[in-house]
Amino acid sequence: MRKFKTESKKLLDLMINSIYTNKEIFLRELISNASDAVDKLNFKSLTDDSMQVDQDDLSIRVSFDRDARTITVSDNGIGMTADELEKNLGTIAHSGSQEFKTENAESQGDAVDIIGQFGVGFYSAFMVAKRVQVVSRAYGEDAANVWESDGLEGYTIEPGERAGHGTDVILTLRDNEPGKDGEPGENYDRYLSEWALKDLITRYSNYVRYPIQMMVTKSRQKPKPEDAGDDYQPEYEDYQELETINSMTPIWKKRASDVEQKDYNEFYKSTFHDFEDPARTISFHAEGALEYDALLFVPGRAPFDLYSKDYEKGLALYSSNVMIMEKCADLLPDYYNFVRGVVDSEDVSLNISRETLQHDRQLHAIARRIEKKITDDLCDMRDNDREAYEKFFENFGRGLKFGIYNTYGGKADELGDLLLFWSAKEQKMVTLREYAEAMPDGQKAVYYAAGDDRERLSKMPVVTGVLARGYDVLLCTQDVDEFTFQAMREYVARDMPKIYEDDAAREAAEKAQADGAEPETEDRHLELKNVATGDLDLASEDEKKEAEEATKEHSDLFDAMKEALGDKVEKVAVSSRLVGEGEAPACITTEGPLSLEMEKVLKRGPE
Ligand code: ADP
Ligand code: MG
Repeated sequence: MRKFKTESKKLLDLMINSIYTNKEIFLRELISNASDAVDKLNFKSLTDDSMQVDQDDLSIRVSFDRDARTITVSDNGIGMTADELEKNLGTIAHSGSQEFKTENAESQGDAVDIIGQFGVGFYSAFMVAKRVQVVSRAYGEDAANVWESDGLEGYTIEPGERAGHGTDVILTLRDNEPGKDGEPGENYDRYLSEWALKDLITRYSNYVRYPIQMMVTKSRQKPKPEDAGDDYQPEYEDYQELETINSMTPIWKKRASDVEQKDYNEFYKSTFHDFEDPARTISFHAEGALEYDALLFVPGRAPFDLYSKDYEKGLALYSSNVMIMEKCADLLPDYYNFVRGVVDSEDVSLNISRETLQHDRQLHAIARRIEKKITDDLCDMRDNDREAYEKFFENFGRGLKFGIYNTYGGKADELGDLLLFWSAKEQKMVTLREYAEAMPDGQKAVYYAAGDDRERLSKMPVVTGVLARGYDVLLCTQDVDEFTFQAMREYVARDMPKIYEDDAAREAAEKAQADGAEPETEDRHLELKNVATGDLDLASEDEKKEAEEATKEHSDLFDAMKEALGDKVEKVAVSSRLVGEGEAPACITTEGPLSLEMEKVLKRGPE
């Protein structure tokens, strides 16, 4: 018996004793190797004219034997010589194995994670198998060889037989394990069914380029006998047929112009288990340093658990048509966590073998591009399909606001223009930019009011007071709104239209800027103002004077009120906030950075 190299042994130990629950990926790994082997044969035939390879014959077969408790994955690919069996299966043939060893030494938990994310190829078979036999015959050789191992100390390689070139990987499943200490056990028999294997193939290997075939049992009606009487009842019989299980051409590799929306919708619904069509479909092909295809969907409704802790964001990550991760979280920023989809790149390593760092860098590059594509698409929807966008925003807007708040405004540039708020004046949802562009000359701020209920807000005297001056007020009813605004001050000052007293002033400023004058002074910058906080500075000089005089005149009354209210109020005074006929006689406002609403939210604590 030959002994495994140290690093192989470590990996095997880890595999076998893995607490990693996703053992079912073994099939994906074996099929991916089979597909690679067929690829290699294909490639060789391209460069070697003496080779005759019939494309239609290339296939991968999966079969099982319930009594022997075996699963076999066969391919008619390039095959392996005895030397290659030794070299490829006796050691981990990856450059990264050394790294793996060091990482593994520090924490098994991390390593287990890596297995889960990228797979470690052939050895994953030992997660479910107590014995693995590999019968292989290299292309152009007459002899076959059998590699065999129980995955513990070592392996043997003996001469064997095989009809043609290619490889059979035969797994003898591990014994079922009863559960211990209330933990569930492991039932390996569950893989020994047509249904289970088909399920694994369609889930993990659906888009492998070559047909993955399985003998399946089907039922058919027996032919009607010649002498059948009137009371003849049709009879059925089972028969076996070789069926291709995988769909082979991935929909994301097709050009968008070649795919009908209804096919995208079907794919979306069946893959992501939604019963509603997606609101948006984004498909693109990236070229350059990193080549990949991406197919993304914005769901038509929010998944029920979107705002819960259990929600897992992420895109499915494929490499060479093989799924390597079901939910790659790194591909999506948190505020686009609702997006579903697939990224497929030949350039992303299927193994942990490549440098982890480089891998991260690749993923980052893809993630940045994806984020941009999503933002562009949402802008497009906002501008060209407003009704759909409003529905989208109702579903997912809260997450976008958190995106700004959680990045302290760092994402306001991208996300700011995607937010919608209720305009009390227009009676519809508007963006901040739309609000600002509709402002009359002389308006110095974006006014908003925050509270639980739009109806009540619209009746608040502080709101109607501002509306009466001809200025719109945004009515904000989500707890995150005001906090988001706090994080958007800089964005509003910088990106929103500047403030001018009138057209002449604007024109003069534009001309000055064109002539290369100083940049705009701060007093030209728009601000966000809560109508219930601080001094709104809306009153004319006359109104101010009037208010001051009235406060002085009735100082006895106000002093008495202040005394009666004590610590509950800071001061009592005449204000020019409340204008218009039949207005409320008094209102409560706050000073300082926190509004009443924000204090309420903060007191309530995080949800
Ligand atoms: P990887 O696929 O990333 O190279 P694996 O552990 O999955 O790593 O496989 C190790 C090596 O064993 C492969 O690189 C390949 O050379 C060889 N191998 C595995 N399965 C097959 C197969 N079905 N046919 C030919 N070679 C195979
Ligand atoms: Mg592999």
